[in-house]
Amino acid sequence: MKTIAILGSTGSIGTQTLEVVRENGDIRVLGIAAGENIALLEEQIREFHPKKAAVWSEEKAKELRMKTADTDTKIVSGMEGLIEIAVMEDTEVLVTAIVGMIGIRPTIEAIKAGKDIALANKETLVTAGHLIMPLAERKEVRILPVDSEHSAIFQSLQGNDKSSVKKILLTASGGPFRGRKQEELLEIRAEDALKHPNWTMGAKITIDSSTMVNKGLEVIEAKWLFGVDVDDVQVVVQPQSIIHSMVEYKDGAILAQLGTPDMKLPIQYALYYPERRYLPGERLDFWSIGKLDFEKPDMDTFYGLRLAYSAGRQGGTLPTVFNAANELAVSMFLKGEVKYLEISEIIEDCMSVHKNIKEPSLEEILETETATYERINSRR
Ligand code: NDP
Repeated sequence: MKTIAILGSTGSIGTQTLEVVRENGDIRVLGIAAGENIALLEEQIREFHPKKAAVWSEEKAKELRMKTADTDTKIVSGMEGLIEIAVMEDTEVLVTAIVGMIGIRPTIEAIKAGKDIALANKETLVTAGHLIMPLAERKEVRILPVDSEHSAIFQSLQGNDKSSVKKILLTASGGPFRGRKQEELLEIRAEDALKHPNWTMGAKITIDSSTMVNKGLEVIEAKWLFGVDVDDVQVVVQPQSIIHSMVEYKDGAILAQLGTPDMKLPIQYALYYPERRYLPGERLDFWSIGKLDFEKPDMDTFYGLRLAYSAGRQGGTLPTVFNAANELAVSMFLKGEVKYLEISEIIEDCMSVHKNIKEPSLEEILETETATYERINSRR
């Protein structure tokens, strides 16, 4: 029986991971963690009987402790609680499905404790890839991508030597505003941006997909996961989201992974890698698809993607500034505090004043995050 723990069990990836667990019946969930949704955590505790569950605030943890007093699950809280879940003795794989940079420390601790990581939390690699990847190598821990594009690349790399790779072709749907120009995006509201054409995901990543900042984060994530330069990652808009990404080899061959937009496939692949298991669900029918379209990304309108290339190329703390500025700008946009186009403006402003630190420590990364938030807040 495989044993796992999940950070972010109540979110989009977390709940789909639990669906995979439910459907397969041979995975034991030993730990779960969430931010504040204790109603769903309680249901998950009663269904999966984890040994431990973490909630971010101690207040909510107290409430959950009372509600689940009749169970054997220990309730923990805060960053310590997240780390406790990340390093639980008997778990083999930690699924990092938490949103944001808060995932860095627990992920590092899990790697130190020898856990394989099924990684959805891309912000971790974007900001601390230079710490995480060498640590994983030293600890002989596998970082298994859950992001559908990176899973597709990972699948397309199987059986081939890394030295024979020419470039990575990272596909993008282009989001709900594909084809529009800046002047057509002036009045976009949160509810418009929350409608992704092909995927159902958490709020932050859905906004990031619409601005193409998500693709930018994925370019930097690919740099770390696959050890390539960001300029060897080419974004290809594939509006139907059928080709999940591709790898071009030196001999000109291109290998791709295709499928319906269902996150359960990459989640299941990461959990059982290298085994491929049956997964119920819709299958691609090329006769009804008819054709696939491809476009170049519009990096003038969606210039968050261009900023991501710049941050990824320069490295150091700049990707942290890119990511932290985006995290705060998106949460402000969701609350109606800034306009849609201001998201990329805020990122650009923070990047333009930042004094880059090469090879930053974890503390320097976290200080950069705080300094970025302070700059944005001081200008409100
Ligand atoms: P959601 O917003 O749906 O879920 C986020 C999860 O993180 C929730 O369980 C939430 O708990 C938890 N969380 C938030 N803050 C804290 C905290 N302080 N302490 C503990 N838990 C916390 O996000 P998604 O599932 O969409 O995305 C998760 C990650 O996966 C992101 O990094 C995203 O970029 C990445 N990803 C997502 C994809 C998708 O299809 N959704 C695809 C590829 C990558 P609560 O609900 O209680 O607030």
